Amino acid sequence: MSDPDETVDVAIVGGGPAGLAAATELRRHGVARVLVLEREAEAGGIPRHCGHYPFGMREFHRLLRGPDYAARLVRRAEAAGAVIRTGTTVTGLGPDGRLSVCDDRGTATVTARAVLLATGVRETSRAARLIGGEKPGGILPTGALQGLVYLNHQKPFDRPVIIGSELVAFSALLTCRHAGIRPVAIIEAGDRATARWPVPLLARFLGIPFLARTRLEAIHGTRRVEGIDLAGATGERSLQADGVIVTGQFRPEASLLREGGLRIDPATGGPEVDGWGRLSDPAYFAAGNLLRGVETAGWSWAEGRRAASAIAAHLRGDLPEGDRSAPIALDHAALKFAMPQILPMAPAEGRGLAPFLQIRLATPARGRLCLWQGDRIIAYRRLNHRPEQRILMPLPTIDPNAPPPRLTIEPS
Ligand SMILES: Cc1cc2nc3c(=O)[nH]c(=O)nc-3n(C[C@H](O)[C@H](O)[C@H](O)COP(=O)(O)OP(=O)(O)OC[C@H]3O[C@@H](n4cnc5c(N)ncnc54)[C@H](O)[C@@H]3O)c2cc1C
Repeated sequence: MSDPDETVDVAIVGGGPAGLAAATELRRHGVARVLVLEREAEAGGIPRHCGHYPFGMREFHRLLRGPDYAARLVRRAEAAGAVIRTGTTVTGLGPDGRLSVCDDRGTATVTARAVLLATGVRETSRAARLIGGEKPGGILPTGALQGLVYLNHQKPFDRPVIIGSELVAFSALLTCRHAGIRPVAIIEAGDRATARWPVPLLARFLGIPFLARTRLEAIHGTRRVEGIDLAGATGERSLQADGVIVTGQFRPEASLLREGGLRIDPATGGPEVDGWGRLSDPAYFAAGNLLRGVETAGWSWAEGRRAASAIAAHLRGDLPEGDRSAPIALDHAALKFAMPQILPMAPAEGRGLAPFLQIRLATPARGRLCLWQGDRIIAYRRLNHRPEQRILMPLPTIDPNAPPPRLTIEPS
C-alpha cells in the first residue's frame, strides 16, 4: 500500500475490459489521477482466462485471443497514464467516494472525486441451481475450467457434459477443444440454444450433440463424476460422462453495493443507474457486466468508455443534478429487466451510459414493446425475441411531472 490515505480524481474498482477502457478514456479526457484497483495478481478481467478467439474486433480491429486482448487493454491504459494497482481488493464503499481497500500489506483508504464500479459477474453455484445427486469431483463452472486449462495447463476431464447454451457455454466448448477435451453433449432446458445465431452452429461444426428440452436431473459418482441422469421431452435417460461444466446464470458481482447501501435493482441484480450510469450515491458510477450480467467483452469495453465520458462531465460539473425519478416498472411477466432503470429528463446521448435502453426477456415474447407514462406511449419497438437476446430501444427522456414510466408488451 503506497499511502494509507490516498486521494485520487477517479478510482476504478475492477481491471477488466470495462474498467481498463474507462481508465484509458478518462486520461484522454485530461483527468489527472486515475487509479484502477484490481484484486487479481494481473489486470485484464475474464478475458485473461479465455485463451481462445474471438476478442478485440471492436477495440483493436483484429481478432485476438483473450489473454492477448487483456494484455493490450492493460498496456493501453498504462500508456495513457492510468495507474493499475493489482493484488488490491476493495472491501467497502463509503459515502463521497471513500473506499476501504486491502492488500497483503494491510488495509487503507482511497478517496476519489468519482468512483467507477466495474466488478463484473459471478457464476451461480451448483447448490443454487438445485442439481441433485452425489457431489463428486469434476463439476466445474466455466470460469474455473478456463483457469485450469489456460492458466494451469491442466485437463480436468476427457468427456464432460456442458449444461446451458448461453454465449459462455460456447466459450466452454472452445476451451475444451483447446485442451483436447471432447464434450459428450450440450444440455439445454429450452427448446433451442440461448446464444444468438451463429454461435450455436459451433456445436454442430464440432460434432457435439445438442440436446434441447432436456434437464440435468442428477450427477453420479463417488470420487469423480461417472454419469448423469437427464429428463427430456422423450423421457429419462442416462449418459456416461467424467465431468460436468455448468455455464451461464451469471449474476452481477454486487456484494460491495449491498455493503455500501447503494440501491440495487432486483431485476438485473446490479446497481440501479440513471442515463449517465450514476448510482443512488452520485459519486459512484457503474459499467460493464456489473450492470446486468454477461455481455460480450467488446460491449463491456464500450460501456466503460461511455462511463468515462460521463465521469469526466461530472468532474467538470456538467452533469445535471442527481434528480432521480422513479425507476421503470416492468408490467409484463415476460420482461426480465430494463436498464438504465432511471430515465433522463433531458437527452443523455453522447455523454451517458448509452443512448438506448437495454432490455431482456425472461420468456420468449412477440408483439410491441411499449414504454408508457400515464396513458401516453413515449417509446415503442417491434418485439419477436427470446430470453438473453439483446433488445435495445432508443433512450427516451421522461416528463418529471407525468406518472413513473412503465414498460409493457402489447399485441402487435
Ligand atoms: C466464462 C466466460 C467466458 C467468456 N467468453 C467470452 C468470449 O469468448 N468472447 C467475448 O467477447 N466475451 C466473453 N465473455 C464475456 C466477457 O469476458 C465479459 O463481458 C467481460 O470480461 C466483462 O468485462 P468487465 O470489465 O465488466 O468484467 P470482468 O472482465 O469480469 O472484470 C471485473 C474485474 O473486477 C475485479 N474485481 C471484482 N471485485 C473486485 C473488488 N472488490 N476489488 C478489486 N477488484 C475486483 C475482478 O477481479 C475482475 O478482474 C465471457 C465471460 C465469461 C464469464
